[in-house]
Amino acid sequence: PARGAEVLRASELRKQFGGLVAVDNVGFTLNAGEVVGLIGPNGAGKSTTFNLLTGVLAATKGNVAFLGEEICGSTARHIATRGVARTFQHVKLVRGMSVLDNVALGAHLRGAAGPLSAALHLDRAEEARIFALAWQQLHRVGLAQCAHLVADDLSLGQQRLVEIARALCLDPVLLLLDEPAAGLRHLEKAALARLLDRLRQDGMTILLVEHDMDFVMNLTDRLVVMNFGAELAQGRPKDIQGNPAVIDAYLGT
Ligand code: ADP
Ligand code: MG
Repeated sequence: PARGAEVLRASELRKQFGGLVAVDNVGFTLNAGEVVGLIGPNGAGKSTTFNLLTGVLAATKGNVAFLGEEICGSTARHIATRGVARTFQHVKLVRGMSVLDNVALGAHLRGAAGPLSAALHLDRAEEARIFALAWQQLHRVGLAQCAHLVADDLSLGQQRLVEIARALCLDPVLLLLDEPAAGLRHLEKAALARLLDRLRQDGMTILLVEHDMDFVMNLTDRLVVMNFGAELAQGRPKDIQGNPAVIDAYLGT
């Protein structure tokens, strides 16, 4: 999509878990090349919103248009192959497996045959292509020197970067990051911010959930604020910083 063109439009999204309304009538748009922050207190419904956008959970109600296609109700696999990649708040790497193999799992998903069949009947050319892609993405996040280490031996911050490399193997149009800076040290956060800025310059659209407000305010073009499942405010970071309702619900604490 051309820079600034609409990539995703979520409307009237709702998710109920029994009597609990985790996401309540939430709507926003994301445009190509934008980095948008989704912020709010713990339990506000941010991760659930990610799960609705990526087909991990079925919405109770609402619509999600991605590049003009309705994807609400589509499978997670379909949405991923269309170009929406994500990381999880709780890192999901395969324990005991090398960093490179963990990243290559993301490249399998991009293959037409699907991850399982690709793993079972991989021909040499396909395998070479997958590992070349995995190396490329590991270089991109600055972790090539860790390729042959066991993933669980990395720091939590590095494991988050491995997840990002895996997501980048999908060559996503839209990248969703759930608390990518959590557990990162100062220098690692700065490196992550530079990486996300480069991805934005390449035209990628990024939606990120993050509690580190310095990180969020410096990096994002726009913010969506949630509180108790509902949308509290949307706007530019400097306007949101001065919004009394946002300060009261979240920033002031
Ligand atoms: P956030 O990411 O903003 O901290 P979540 O989206 O994880 O918030 O959670 C929103 C609310 O939904 C919380 O009250 C949480 O306990 C609840 N919730 C999340 N996932 C589930 C689930 N699978 N089943 C029941 N309740 C859930
Ligand atoms: Mg969360």
